[in-house]
Amino acid sequence: MADIKPLRGMKDITPGEVGTWQLAEASIRKIFSSYGYQEIRFPLVEKTSLFNRSIGQTTDIVSKEMYIFEDRKGENIALRPEGTASCVRASISNNLLRTESPRLWYMGPMFRYERPQKGRSRQFHQSSLEAYGVSHPYIEAELISVCARLWKELKINKELTLEINTLGNSDSRKKYKEALKEYFERYKNDLDKNSLRQLTDNPLRILDSKLDSVRKLLAEAPDIRDFIDEESKEHFDLLLNTLDELKVNFLLNNKLVRGLDYYEKTVFEWKSNLIGAQDTICAGGRYDNLVEELGGKPCPGVGFSIGMERLILLLEDKKNTLYKPTSLDVFFVCLTEESIPIAIKYSEEIREKIRNLNLKINFGLESASSQFKRADNSGAEVTLILGEEELKNNSISFKELRKESSQVTLTLEEVIERFKKMRA
Ligand code: ATP
Ligand code: MG
Repeated sequence: MADIKPLRGMKDITPGEVGTWQLAEASIRKIFSSYGYQEIRFPLVEKTSLFNRSIGQTTDIVSKEMYIFEDRKGENIALRPEGTASCVRASISNNLLRTESPRLWYMGPMFRYERPQKGRSRQFHQSSLEAYGVSHPYIEAELISVCARLWKELKINKELTLEINTLGNSDSRKKYKEALKEYFERYKNDLDKNSLRQLTDNPLRILDSKLDSVRKLLAEAPDIRDFIDEESKEHFDLLLNTLDELKVNFLLNNKLVRGLDYYEKTVFEWKSNLIGAQDTICAGGRYDNLVEELGGKPCPGVGFSIGMERLILLLEDKKNTLYKPTSLDVFFVCLTEESIPIAIKYSEEIREKIRNLNLKINFGLESASSQFKRADNSGAEVTLILGEEELKNNSISFKELRKESSQVTLTLEEVIERFKKMRA
């Protein structure tokens, strides 16, 4: 069979790596729940039109990054490139927005056909919060507090900076886009192909350019703050005051725009300078028109997404202090083939009596010495041994690996008693 390689930009997470993921995911679940948010799960695939309508035709995601297929009936479907649109769709489909103001979270893979590089893959993972039905800025303050608490829990709060901006309402954005267009028209010769396309499609995105030649032009470009409507300004000021009260540090960034059309008013990003060029670990903002756009009754919304691959890059430095792999407690050595079914039976009885004991049976039937070496390398505290002798006497040999104590021969009941004592 020819070599089967993974698809470009799609990565396996190996058992050696997964511990950091599990640690991050457990902390995220804990912190999200501690603010009263509930998990929602929705499909990985949706009608393509859901994303076209919500994210916006001229955005990078819709114009070039989506995985789109026709199913067997010719329906145009897409692998989800992000979760907000699906979450809104699911909240409308399940009538969640009628009676309550749901606070939701989800976690899982997203798909974008991008050029793979450090911090950017084609299947990547996000952990996200969405809150509906609250139009005042205290909810943005809560979202940001959730992030801040999570960074503290993961001991990366010193490594992350919050950048924040307001995009105003759709009218102020429209005026600002026109001003940007007029400005960049004058420098057309200095713009790359992508920026030229954005100039007609979505001039706000030029502010996000990573090219030095374009970034140089930004210094003199019109300032979004001169175009923001009064209501959005008040909203933003109240948010910033609340963040001050909560002692959350932030950096105002008037060039911060997001790659999705549905955002308005508040947008924010948490960045780190330790993980390379793809430095945004978490991004979010307000999207008050999205629910209505997708067919629901008008309902404000806010949310953010954490890019898990980038979070893991940052956590990997801290592995030694943060992450403890789930340890093996017992390594069961079987010296003869007949010992294996008995070891299985004994192990079930032990698991029945002792909770949370990690016991692994070695099915290898290698020599005693190589099995003992494996036991030692496994990190287990105890080896249990079943061989011809033990089977004859209905006993089990028991050895504490990390202590100087010598091997003893016990009955199954005595083994269980020992484990109980060791756990006490
Ligand atoms: P970027 O400018 O980095 O492409 P974006 O604006 O496309 O980000 P969002 O759609 O807001 O990003 O997604 C939120 C977060 O998800 C990002 O800040 C990032 O951490 C992560 N993310 C987005 N695309 C990818 C990707 N292809 N691979 C890994 N992580 C990603
Ligand atoms: Mg992107």
